[in-house]
Amino acid sequence: MNRNQFIKTSIFGTLAVSIVSNFSFISIQDRYTRNQLIGKGNLDITGDTYTSKMHKDAKVAFQEMKKEAAKDGITLEVVSAYRSFKKQKELFENKYQQFISEGLSPIEAINKIIEYSTIPGTSRHHWGTDIDIIDANFPRPESVLEEEHFYGEGPYCKLKEWMNVHSEKFGFYEVYSNNPNRKGFKYEPWHFSYAPVSKPMLQEYKKLDILKVFQEEKILGSEYFNSDFIDIYRSQNILDINPELL
Ligand SMILES: [Zn+2]
Repeated sequence: MNRNQFIKTSIFGTLAVSIVSNFSFISIQDRYTRNQLIGKGNLDITGDTYTSKMHKDAKVAFQEMKKEAAKDGITLEVVSAYRSFKKQKELFENKYQQFISEGLSPIEAINKIIEYSTIPGTSRHHWGTDIDIIDANFPRPESVLEEEHFYGEGPYCKLKEWMNVHSEKFGFYEVYSNNPNRKGFKYEPWHFSYAPVSKPMLQEYKKLDILKVFQEEKILGSEYFNSDFIDIYRSQNILDINPELL
Protein backbone atom coordinates (compact mmCIF):
# COMPACT_ATOMS: atom_id res chain seq x y z
CA MET A 1 0.00 0.00 0.00
CA ASN A 2 1.44 3.42 -0.90
CA ARG A 3 1.08 6.39 1.37
CA ASN A 4 -1.93 7.88 -0.45
CA GLN A 5 -3.81 4.63 -0.35
CA PHE A 6 -2.99 4.27 3.35
CA ILE A 7 -4.38 7.72 4.12
CA LYS A 8 -7.56 7.05 2.15
CA THR A 9 -8.05 3.69 3.83
CA SER A 10 -7.47 5.02 7.30
CA ILE A 11 -9.68 8.07 6.76
CA PHE A 12 -12.40 5.83 5.52
CA GLY A 13 -11.83 3.45 8.43
CA THR A 14 -12.08 6.24 10.99
CA LEU A 15 -15.16 7.62 9.31
CA ALA A 16 -16.77 4.19 9.27
CA VAL A 17 -16.01 3.61 12.94
CA SER A 18 -17.42 6.98 13.91
CA ILE A 19 -20.57 6.41 11.84
CA VAL A 20 -21.07 2.98 13.40
CA SER A 21 -20.47 4.17 16.94
CA ASN A 22 -22.72 7.20 16.48
CA PHE A 23 -25.39 4.99 15.06
CA SER A 24 -25.31 2.53 17.92
CA PHE A 25 -25.28 5.38 20.43
CA ILE A 26 -28.35 6.91 18.81
CA SER A 27 -30.20 3.63 18.54
CA ILE A 28 -29.64 2.74 22.20
CA GLN A 29 -30.62 6.22 23.35
CA ASP A 30 -33.73 6.35 21.24
CA ARG A 31 -34.85 2.77 21.29
CA TYR A 32 -37.09 2.99 24.31
CA THR A 33 -38.93 6.23 24.82
CA ARG A 34 -41.29 6.85 27.73
CA ASN A 35 -44.24 6.16 25.45
CA GLN A 36 -42.82 2.89 24.14
CA LEU A 37 -42.18 1.72 27.69
CA ILE A 38 -45.74 2.43 28.78
CA GLY A 39 -47.53 1.00 25.75
CA LYS A 40 -48.29 4.20 23.92
CA GLY A 41 -46.81 3.51 20.51
CA ASN A 42 -43.94 1.30 19.46
CA LEU A 43 -42.76 0.91 15.88
CA ASP A 44 -41.28 -2.49 16.70
CA ILE A 45 -44.74 -3.96 17.30
CA THR A 46 -46.08 -6.00 14.39
CA GLY A 47 -49.37 -7.82 13.89
CA ASP A 48 -52.94 -6.67 13.62
CA THR A 49 -54.95 -8.49 16.26
CA TYR A 50 -54.93 -8.61 20.03
CA THR A 51 -53.27 -12.04 20.02
CA SER A 52 -50.86 -11.47 17.13
CA LYS A 53 -49.45 -8.07 18.04
CA MET A 54 -45.95 -8.62 19.36
CA HIS A 55 -42.47 -7.15 19.27
CA LYS A 56 -41.02 -8.19 15.91
CA ASP A 57 -38.06 -10.08 17.43
CA ALA A 58 -40.25 -11.85 19.98
CA LYS A 59 -42.59 -12.88 17.20
CA VAL A 60 -39.83 -14.50 15.13
CA ALA A 61 -38.60 -16.42 18.19
CA PHE A 62 -42.16 -17.42 19.10
CA GLN A 63 -42.79 -18.80 15.62
CA GLU A 64 -39.63 -20.90 15.89
CA MET A 65 -40.69 -22.18 19.30
CA LYS A 66 -44.19 -22.94 18.04
CA LYS A 67 -42.77 -25.04 15.19
CA GLU A 68 -40.61 -26.99 17.60
CA ALA A 69 -43.47 -27.54 20.05
CA ALA A 70 -45.69 -28.78 17.21
CA LYS A 71 -43.22 -31.62 16.65
CA ASP A 72 -44.01 -32.77 20.19
CA GLY A 73 -47.76 -32.49 19.66
CA ILE A 74 -48.28 -29.14 21.39
CA THR A 75 -50.07 -26.29 19.64
CA LEU A 76 -48.88 -23.10 21.27
CA GLU A 77 -51.58 -20.47 21.15
CA VAL A 78 -51.22 -16.91 22.33
CA VAL A 79 -54.19 -15.61 24.29
CA SER A 80 -52.61 -12.28 25.14
CA ALA A 81 -49.54 -10.52 23.76
CA TYR A 82 -49.03 -6.79 23.20
CA ARG A 83 -51.50 -4.74 25.18
CA SER A 84 -51.70 -1.00 24.70
CA PHE A 85 -51.82 1.53 27.49
CA LYS A 86 -55.36 2.40 26.47
CA LYS A 87 -56.53 -1.20 26.78
CA GLN A 88 -54.85 -1.67 30.18
CA LYS A 89 -56.41 1.59 31.36
CA GLU A 90 -59.87 0.33 30.40
CA LEU A 91 -59.29 -3.00 32.18
CA PHE A 92 -57.96 -1.31 35.30
CA GLU A 93 -60.61 1.39 35.51
CA ASN A 94 -63.48 -1.04 34.92
CA LYS A 95 -62.28 -3.20 37.80
CA TYR A 96 -61.67 -0.15 39.96
CA GLN A 97 -65.20 1.12 39.43
CA GLN A 98 -66.64 -2.34 40.02
CA PHE A 99 -64.81 -2.81 43.34
CA ILE A 100 -65.70 0.70 44.51
CA SER A 101 -69.37 0.03 43.71
CA GLU A 102 -69.10 -3.18 45.77
CA GLY A 103 -68.09 -1.06 48.77
CA LEU A 104 -64.29 -1.33 48.79
CA SER A 105 -62.20 1.70 49.65
CA PRO A 106 -59.97 3.07 46.86
CA ILE A 107 -56.85 1.52 48.41
CA GLU A 108 -58.60 -1.83 48.96
CA ALA A 109 -59.80 -1.77 45.36
CA ILE A 110 -56.31 -1.03 44.02
CA ASN A 111 -54.72 -3.74 46.16
CA LYS A 112 -57.31 -6.25 44.97
CA ILE A 113 -56.75 -5.34 41.31
CA ILE A 114 -52.99 -5.67 41.56
CA GLU A 115 -53.16 -9.27 42.78
CA TYR A 116 -53.29 -10.20 39.09
CA SER A 117 -53.57 -7.05 36.98
CA THR A 118 -51.21 -4.19 36.54
CA ILE A 119 -51.69 -0.49 36.85
CA PRO A 120 -51.74 0.96 33.30
CA GLY A 121 -48.26 1.96 32.24
CA THR A 122 -46.62 -0.87 34.20
CA SER A 123 -47.67 -3.98 32.28
CA ARG A 124 -44.93 -6.05 30.69
CA HIS A 125 -47.50 -6.70 27.96
CA HIS A 126 -46.98 -3.04 26.93
CA TRP A 127 -43.58 -4.06 25.57
CA GLY A 128 -44.81 -6.72 23.12
CA THR A 129 -42.24 -9.09 24.59
CA ASP A 130 -44.55 -10.94 26.94
CA ILE A 131 -47.16 -13.54 26.09
CA ASP A 132 -49.79 -15.63 27.83
CA ILE A 133 -50.05 -19.03 26.18
CA ILE A 134 -52.17 -22.15 26.18
CA ASP A 135 -52.31 -25.37 24.15
CA ALA A 136 -54.90 -25.09 21.37
CA ASN A 137 -55.29 -28.89 21.19
CA PHE A 138 -57.72 -28.79 24.09
CA PRO A 139 -61.19 -27.28 24.25
CA ARG A 140 -60.95 -24.01 26.12
CA PRO A 141 -62.13 -24.07 29.73
CA GLU A 142 -64.39 -21.16 30.66
CA SER A 143 -61.50 -19.26 32.19
CA VAL A 144 -58.27 -20.29 30.48
CA LEU A 145 -55.61 -18.66 32.62
CA GLU A 146 -56.02 -20.61 35.86
CA GLU A 147 -53.13 -22.30 37.63
CA GLU A 148 -54.99 -25.62 37.97
CA HIS A 149 -55.11 -26.04 34.16
CA PHE A 150 -51.31 -26.16 34.01
CA TYR A 151 -50.80 -28.95 36.55
CA GLY A 152 -51.88 -32.51 37.36
CA GLU A 153 -54.78 -33.47 35.14
CA GLY A 154 -55.07 -29.98 33.69
CA PRO A 155 -55.29 -29.58 29.91
CA TYR A 156 -52.14 -27.46 29.73
CA CYS A 157 -49.81 -29.55 31.88
CA LYS A 158 -48.07 -31.03 28.85
CA LEU A 159 -47.48 -27.53 27.49
CA LYS A 160 -46.11 -26.44 30.85
CA GLU A 161 -43.69 -29.38 31.05
CA TRP A 162 -42.55 -28.70 27.49
CA MET A 163 -41.98 -25.00 28.19
CA ASN A 164 -40.03 -25.83 31.36
CA VAL A 165 -37.57 -27.83 29.27
CA HIS A 166 -37.43 -25.91 25.99
CA SER A 167 -38.62 -22.29 26.23
CA GLU A 168 -35.33 -20.75 27.38
CA LYS A 169 -33.57 -22.03 24.25
CA PHE A 170 -35.86 -19.68 22.33
CA GLY A 171 -35.34 -16.78 24.74
CA PHE A 172 -38.66 -17.16 26.63
CA TYR A 173 -38.63 -17.16 30.43
CA GLU A 174 -41.38 -17.54 33.00
CA VAL A 175 -41.85 -14.16 34.72
CA TYR A 176 -44.04 -14.65 37.78
CA SER A 177 -42.58 -17.88 39.12
CA ASN A 178 -43.92 -20.03 41.95
CA ASN A 179 -41.05 -19.23 44.28
CA PRO A 180 -42.82 -19.00 47.68
CA ASN A 181 -40.57 -16.09 48.71
CA ARG A 182 -41.55 -14.02 45.70
CA LYS A 183 -43.92 -11.11 46.32
CA GLY A 184 -45.89 -9.00 43.87
CA PHE A 185 -48.05 -10.67 41.25
CA LYS A 186 -49.24 -14.16 41.92
CA TYR A 187 -47.87 -17.18 40.12
CA GLU A 188 -48.64 -17.17 36.38
CA PRO A 189 -47.57 -20.46 34.76
CA TRP A 190 -48.86 -19.16 31.40
CA HIS A 191 -46.90 -15.91 31.18
CA PHE A 192 -43.52 -15.88 29.38
CA SER A 193 -41.19 -13.08 28.39
CA TYR A 194 -38.78 -12.80 25.50
CA ALA A 195 -35.63 -11.91 27.45
CA PRO A 196 -33.38 -10.53 24.67
CA VAL A 197 -35.73 -7.55 24.33
CA SER A 198 -37.51 -7.39 27.68
CA LYS A 199 -34.30 -7.31 29.75
CA PRO A 200 -32.97 -4.10 28.16
CA MET A 201 -36.47 -2.63 28.23
CA LEU A 202 -36.73 -3.29 31.96
CA GLN A 203 -33.39 -1.58 32.52
CA GLU A 204 -34.74 1.52 30.76
CA TYR A 205 -38.10 1.19 32.47
CA LYS A 206 -36.44 1.36 35.90
CA LYS A 207 -35.43 4.95 35.13
CA LEU A 208 -39.06 6.09 34.74
CA ASP A 209 -40.83 8.00 37.48
CA ILE A 210 -43.99 5.90 37.49
CA LEU A 211 -45.91 8.05 39.96
CA LYS A 212 -45.43 10.95 37.57
CA VAL A 213 -46.64 8.76 34.69
CA PHE A 214 -49.82 7.77 36.62
CA GLN A 215 -50.57 11.41 37.39
CA GLU A 216 -49.82 12.66 33.88
CA GLU A 217 -52.07 9.97 32.42
CA LYS A 218 -54.84 10.75 34.94
CA ILE A 219 -55.42 7.13 35.92
CA LEU A 220 -58.54 6.67 38.00
CA GLY A 221 -57.57 6.28 41.66
CA SER A 222 -54.07 7.68 41.09
CA GLU A 223 -54.68 10.38 43.68
CA TYR A 224 -54.46 7.57 46.27
CA PHE A 225 -51.01 6.42 45.17
CA ASN A 226 -48.38 7.79 47.53
CA SER A 227 -44.64 7.28 47.40
CA ASP A 228 -44.72 4.37 49.90
CA PHE A 229 -47.27 2.57 47.75
CA ILE A 230 -45.18 3.23 44.65
CA ASP A 231 -41.98 1.98 46.32
CA ILE A 232 -43.66 -1.29 47.29
CA TYR A 233 -45.33 -1.71 43.89
CA ARG A 234 -42.02 -1.09 42.15
CA SER A 235 -39.97 -3.47 44.28
CA GLN A 236 -42.59 -6.22 44.45
CA ASN A 237 -44.80 -6.06 41.36
CA ILE A 238 -42.31 -4.78 38.84
CA LEU A 239 -38.99 -6.13 40.09
CA ASP A 240 -39.78 -9.26 42.13
CA ILE A 241 -39.76 -11.53 39.10
CA ASN A 242 -37.68 -14.40 37.81
CA PRO A 243 -34.11 -13.17 38.44
CA GLU A 244 -33.10 -14.35 34.94
CA LEU A 245 -35.09 -11.39 33.60
CA LEU A 246 -33.47 -8.71 35.71
ZN1 LIG B 1 -49.61 -12.07 31.03
